Amino acid sequence: MTVVTDKRDIEKIRESGKIIREIFEMIVGKISDGISTAEIDRIVEEFIILRGAKPAFKGYRGFPAATCVSPNEVVVHGIPSKNIILRQGDIVSVDVGVEKNGFFTDAARTFSVGKISEEANALVRATKKALSEGIKAAVAGNRISDISFAVESVAKREGLKEVRMFVGHGIGRQLHEAPEVPNWGEPGRGLVLKEGLLLAIEPMFNIGTREVKIRPDGWTAVTADGELSAHFEDTVIVGKEKAEILT
Ligand code: MG
Repeated sequence: MTVVTDKRDIEKIRESGKIIREIFEMIVGKISDGISTAEIDRIVEEFIILRGAKPAFKGYRGFPAATCVSPNEVVVHGIPSKNIILRQGDIVSVDVGVEKNGFFTDAARTFSVGKISEEANALVRATKKALSEGIKAAVAGNRISDISFAVESVAKREGLKEVRMFVGHGIGRQLHEAPEVPNWGEPGRGLVLKEGLLLAIEPMFNIGTREVKIRPDGWTAVTADGELSAHFEDTVIVGKEKAEILT
């Protein structure tokens, strides 16, 4: 668990998060019909290194790339490949981790490739909304499961399924730290949130079943029914009145 109170440490983690924010601003214009997921990864890794930072995912438990690029039915942990080409109408989640000045940040967005279906659009919008509702609950005095409940409530309301195989997490000095931040649960349970606690909140929603399978590469997590999945994530600092979004 990392709790930042020192002003210099807060500045350092802000710097780490800013790199990811800029990455998303940069790649939104590059994600288009014909780009491979390996090309997205290459662009992102180059940017991270140019900023004097390290791609936190590369080598993490043997993961081979700087980003997870997860199109359509891929929930998370898609391995970038020159053979996976994005096409008009696809959605694609890009998950990035950065280490800068000894501080880790982690974030994801689901992008659309050109014009997407109404159904895909509703999925993406709801998952994004769930992230912002989860972040609203990340205030001192609340408990971890207040975030979980806020996220799950959006899934329920929108008739979508929150993935339960993967959870959000503490972050800061390491990429993955305690506590776990599930995307479902009754409110008022778990750790009491403290000002300065660093959390990565990351709802993943599916259109069909919430069940997930892992492909033989050992990483790529796909929906069991092949239906679409979306993923949004931000690293935040728990605040007194509201959380600060770093990414
Ligand atoms: Mg994460």
